[in-house]
Amino acid sequence: MLCLGIEGTAEKLGAGVVSSEGRILANVVKHHTPKEGIHPREAAQHHAENLPRVIKKALEEAGRSLDEIGLVAFSQGPGLGPCLRTAAIAARTISLSKDIPIVGVNHCIAHLEIGRLATEAEDPVMLYVSGGNTQVIAFEGGRYRVFGETLDIALGNCLDQFARKIGLGFPGGPAVERLAVKGEFLSLPYAVKGMDMSFSGLLTASVKAAENHRVEDVCRGLQETAFAMCVEVAERAMAHTGKEEILLAGGVAVNRRLQEMAGQMAAERGAGFFVPEKSLLGDNGAMIAWLGIMMHRAGVRHSIEDTTVRQRFRTDEVEVLWR
Ligand code: AMP
Ligand code: MG
Repeated sequence: MLCLGIEGTAEKLGAGVVSSEGRILANVVKHHTPKEGIHPREAAQHHAENLPRVIKKALEEAGRSLDEIGLVAFSQGPGLGPCLRTAAIAARTISLSKDIPIVGVNHCIAHLEIGRLATEAEDPVMLYVSGGNTQVIAFEGGRYRVFGETLDIALGNCLDQFARKIGLGFPGGPAVERLAVKGEFLSLPYAVKGMDMSFSGLLTASVKAAENHRVEDVCRGLQETAFAMCVEVAERAMAHTGKEEILLAGGVAVNRRLQEMAGQMAAERGAGFFVPEKSLLGDNGAMIAWLGIMMHRAGVRHSIEDTTVRQRFRTDEVEVLWR
């Protein structure tokens, strides 16, 4: 069976085609790149305009027609309401017009499951760091649970806001990474509270520091501080759960320094360290399709009434029947 997966939780629109054996036949992503940060309605407008083309392109890449698709999956949440609704409407339309089953999936769990498919990781603690999410997730007691997360803004959002405020453009992550390698470490506020992280104070302090320090040094300090916070929480989740693998996910995970720090932590614990290829790290349709297949295989069936989007969809609300 083939599944068409549609992703549209934030500014990226994706369509992927995956087989029930886990072969990724297509994975098309189209970015909405606003100059001044994401406006949910504008991003949704971008998705509405581009959905037909992105789905068509994914089917072409897969060399299949819509008639050969046996299941349609979409990201039901968490995410921005207008964006989620746009992707959900496309999925419902395909399901109803072609009379194929539909399944709504949790976006965060999809990141973890595509990581398990694409790497050798079997039962990892996932450090998920993106523009909209920062969470440490692992499977325990029959569910995917959040062991630690940001109390305010996401790590990627922190990097993006910092870059925008000091004039480095959007997205901020790559710009900060380029400058950080040329900088000296600058001490900035480190905020881990219990198992949770806070990035808003670090953001404010970094913007202020940029007024009277070299920007390279601020970037270096910002990266070192923020990444150390994430790696600390991930390590403590590993110690708590006894898991011996760490998996990175999300757009920020392409960062070399973050990979190095997480990799070093894993090596010191004798644990496995896994990073999927770049096209599967960020938001994409293939991960949605793959989780759709796993859920469908486990007997999950959604009626159209079940496909209402869930902006605050929590990872641990999902009953995991496929593991
Ligand atoms: P996502 O939300 O998963 O699509 O990822 C987008 C986020 O990843 C944005 O906040 C980017 O700034 C961030 N990002 C992209 N490349 C890098 C990088 N090289 N280092 C740090 N963050 C990055
Ligand atoms: Mg994501």
